[in-house]
Amino acid sequence: MQNIAGASELLLNVCIVFVGSLTLQLFLPMVKPRGLIKTLFVQTVLNVEMILCMSFPYTQAEGFSFDLRAVPMILAPFYGGRNTSATMLIIYAVYRVILGGPQTAKGVFIGMSLMVFSSLISRRFLNAHRGKKVMLASFPMVLLLCGLDILLWRALYDRQGTVATIATFDSINLIVLSVTILGMEYVAENFRLSQEINRTEKLHVVGELAASIAHEIRNPLTVTRGFLQLAMQSNEISSDEKRYLMTAVGELDRAHEIINDYLSLARPSADDPTSVDVDRQLQHVVEMLQPYGHLHNVTISLFISEGLLVPGDPKKLTQLFVNIVKNAVEAMPKGGNLTIRNQRCKAFAAISIRDTGIGMTNEELKRLGNPFYSTKANGTGLGLMASYQICRSMGGRIEVSSNPGKGTEFTVYLPLTDDRPRPIKPEGLESPVV
Ligand code: ADP
Ligand code: MG
Repeated sequence: MQNIAGASELLLNVCIVFVGSLTLQLFLPMVKPRGLIKTLFVQTVLNVEMILCMSFPYTQAEGFSFDLRAVPMILAPFYGGRNTSATMLIIYAVYRVILGGPQTAKGVFIGMSLMVFSSLISRRFLNAHRGKKVMLASFPMVLLLCGLDILLWRALYDRQGTVATIATFDSINLIVLSVTILGMEYVAENFRLSQEINRTEKLHVVGELAASIAHEIRNPLTVTRGFLQLAMQSNEISSDEKRYLMTAVGELDRAHEIINDYLSLARPSADDPTSVDVDRQLQHVVEMLQPYGHLHNVTISLFISEGLLVPGDPKKLTQLFVNIVKNAVEAMPKGGNLTIRNQRCKAFAAISIRDTGIGMTNEELKRLGNPFYSTKANGTGLGLMASYQICRSMGGRIEVSSNPGKGTEFTVYLPLTDDRPRPIKPEGLESPVV
């Protein structure tokens, strides 16, 4: 047995893991988050990684192979989900049996235990921050290494250099796992940030446009309203004419309110947020849009989970939901079912709005929330942009999953009162010229 592993074989193992994992992270953002393509892609990359590591171990002794197979095996449930992990488990067992040797049974058992344990903590991993992810992933690795170290010590204790081999194996595995996770998270974070910057730049332009157009429209509206009011005070007009003028003033006020709402897109909310009852807002939204639903043959069902309060402005929250619900109704031109569900998800209120409409392709999903993106003949492409911005300013997020021809689900996550993280400030929109 070599004292320290052959450097070139060890380097090959490290390269296999790094190249595989970074390929994963570079291409993952380009595919649908929960689609079949993603699962197949992750499965292929990680399985190839694992098989290559097992095929080219950097040293061997007494039927034990020293390689970095444990890294892709731990990453599989974290980045590919439990299906990926289950497939990998079968492939691992089959390939380990094919490789054979005196330690086959132990090898299969240890590998399977490692993957089952990693799957059990995969939920925690997904919700953790970068540093905690490394700690969580190290947990199954440390357990595996402890188990292996005992077996290795018993089998190789009389050999020279056993301690060095075991120490190299343990530290290399832990270091490569940590660096791989840090690298993958770093690439993912950079990708998210660059998307955020792109979006913010577009919002900045829209915000400035909104502010200047609204300014131009507001002045003539105010003048018109003033003259209509003067006309209403005249004694020479009939009560019918007075009613017409009142309606005109009412409509002008409504236009004024819409412009104000539009301007609020470009202006960060200065007022202290109050605690808003999400259920009440949803009930209000459903009442408002029920007639619109009837018009399109859409049945709206609301399931609420009482007592969920979020800090924010009730009007903005209504606007957030109205835009999404209205789109969902419009996505069902031949009628259908719209289900709105509010439930607690850890420190968040998770509001799911699911329709049975036309759905969206992957490409369409990626463009959601971009200003002026609309597939409708008379759409403005501003509704979702407003919803995304309101949600972000409340420290929340929106997740969308969709199947063309089957339907779409928007899930809005809003931090509950007392659990609110710092809201993301919409950069560049602070000082519109109004
Ligand atoms: P608009 O409704 O004016 O088109 P939005 O910003 O509200 O603008 O929506 C942008 C686009 O997103 C829509 O034109 C539509 O193509 C797509 N969309 C939004 N929600 C859904 C949904 N529930 N189902 C299918 N497509 C949707
Ligand atoms: Mg819309």
